[in-house]
Amino acid sequence: MIGTIATARDYVGRFAPSPTGRLHLGSLLGAVVSFLDARCHGGRWLVRIEDIDPPREVAGAAHDILTSLSAHGLIWDGEVQFQRHSLDQHEAAIRQLIDGGHAYYCQCSRKRLIADGHQHCYPGLCRDAGHTEGALRVRVDNMPIQIQDRWQAPLNQVLSESPGDFIIRRRDNLIAYQLAVVIDDATSGITDVVRGVDIYDSTPRQAWLQQLLGLPQPRYAHFPVIVDELGVKLSKQTGAAELENANALGNLRAVLAMIGLPTAELPRSALPEQVLKWAVTQYHDQLLKSRANFISGANHAPIG
Ligand code: GLU
Repeated sequence: MIGTIATARDYVGRFAPSPTGRLHLGSLLGAVVSFLDARCHGGRWLVRIEDIDPPREVAGAAHDILTSLSAHGLIWDGEVQFQRHSLDQHEAAIRQLIDGGHAYYCQCSRKRLIADGHQHCYPGLCRDAGHTEGALRVRVDNMPIQIQDRWQAPLNQVLSESPGDFIIRRRDNLIAYQLAVVIDDATSGITDVVRGVDIYDSTPRQAWLQQLLGLPQPRYAHFPVIVDELGVKLSKQTGAAELENANALGNLRAVLAMIGLPTAELPRSALPEQVLKWAVTQYHDQLLKSRANFISGANHAPIG
C-alpha cells in the first residue's frame, strides 16, 4: 500500500463527470452512490467537472449536468470545480516528473504501435531516445502494485506488463486523465474515491503517480456499473437515454432500487431532497457490495 488511508472522520468525496453529454441513468448512479457514501460518513461531497479534453466536450453539457444534479436534490459542498482551472498544477507535476527522470517524450504513433502488436503494453521504445517533443510518458517498473478496494477484490497489477510506460500528456498537449485526476483529487483533499468499476483498472496507474509525486492515496470504492444484457456498460456511446429532470423522483427511485434500498416504502409524493435524506438513513455499503451487476431495462425504465 502507498500513502495514507482516509478515516471516516475526515471524509471528502467527489463526483467527477466529464462534460461529454447530459446525465443518464448510469452517471446518476455514480452521483448518487458517491453522495450517499459521503453523507453516511458525515463527509463533504464535491463536484468537479473534468473539462480538459475540448475535442470530446459537448457545448452546454457542464451546465446541464449541474442543473440535473440540483434537480435531483444532489447538492454539492462549496464551489463546483472545473478541471481546466488546474492546468498550472498539472504542468507543475509534469515538470516534477521530467526533472526527476520519471517522464520522457515519445514519438511512436498509435498506428505503428498497433501494427507492431504493442496495443496493450508500450515496450519503452522511446525511453532512451532523447526526444524533446511528442507525447509524454511516465516510466513504470516491474514491482506489483496492490490496490485495496472497499467493494471489489484487491487488484494486483505489474505496470511494466500492462500497460507499460503510460501517457501523461498527449502529443496534442492535452493532459491525460490519469495525471489530472491524481493532481485534482490531492489538491481538493479527496479522501475517498467512489466511482464505477469500469475505471478500477486505472487505479494502479494513479497509485503509481501518487507515489512518484509524493501524494496521499485516497481510499477507493468501485461500484458495479449498469450494463445491458450483453454486459456492455450503459453510456452515451451505447445510446443511454438522457435523464428528464421532470422525472427526478422516478430516476432516483430507479438507482436507489439498484443499490438495494427498499424504495417501495417511499411515499409517492416525496421530494428529491427527502428521498435522498431517507436514502442516507437506509444506505449501507454492504448493500452495494452484495450486488454483482446492475442490468438496465431496454428502455431504462425506473425499477421498483
Ligand atoms: N471523468 C470520469 C468520467 O466521467 C470520472 C473519473 C473518476 O471518477 O475518476 O468517467
